[in-house]
Amino acid sequence: MNPYTHALAGWCAAQAVCRHRRDVAIAAVGGVLADLDGAGLFIDVATGHWNGPYRWYESLHHVLGHNLLAAGATAVVAAFFARDRLRTGVVFFALFHLHLLMDLAGSGGPDGDLWTISYLYPLSQREFSWSGQWALNAWPNVVFTAALLALFFRQTGRHGFSPFWYVSKRFDEEFVRTVRKWFAGKGGGTCM
Ligand SMILES: [Zn+2]
Repeated sequence: MNPYTHALAGWCAAQAVCRHRRDVAIAAVGGVLADLDGAGLFIDVATGHWNGPYRWYESLHHVLGHNLLAAGATAVVAAFFARDRLRTGVVFFALFHLHLLMDLAGSGGPDGDLWTISYLYPLSQREFSWSGQWALNAWPNVVFTAALLALFFRQTGRHGFSPFWYVSKRFDEEFVRTVRKWFAGKGGGTCM
C-alpha cells in the first residue's frame, strides 16, 4: 500500500499501545521501515533511468526489507532505544508484519500483477502472495486510508499529541486544540 497509509496505521496502533511518547515514535517506524527497500528507485534515477527500466527498484523492493529477518533485526534495534523495551520491540515487530499484510492485501499492479513478498529472504527465494490482492489504487485502499485518517484525528484529540510534537511542541499544541474543536474529543495526554 501507499507509504502514507502504512504511516497512519503504524502511528495509530503505536499511539494506542505504547506508554511513552518516545516509544510511540520508535514503534511507529516499524509500520513504514520495510519500504526503505524502495530506495533502489533513487539509484535508477541517479543512473539516468528516469523513465525505466527500474532494475534496482524492481529487484530490491518487497525483497530486501519485506522479510522476517529484517523485521526481527530492526525490532531488536528499536527495542534497544526504547524506554519500555519489551513492549516497544513487540509492537514494532507486529507493526512490521502489519505492513507486510497490508502489502499482500492491497498492492496489486494496475494490470492485475500480484505483488509478491520474499518473506524468508535470504534463506529462501520463495515468493508469497495472496490471490485476492486488490490494486494499489483500488477503492478499499481509499476507504481504509480515510478510516485511518479519522482514527488519527480521534486519537490526537484523545491522547493530546500528534507526530508534530516531535518537531514543534507549540505547533502540536495548536494542532491538538484545533482537532479537539472539530472532534470534541476529551483528552488527558496518556503518555509521557
Ligand atoms: Zn511495503
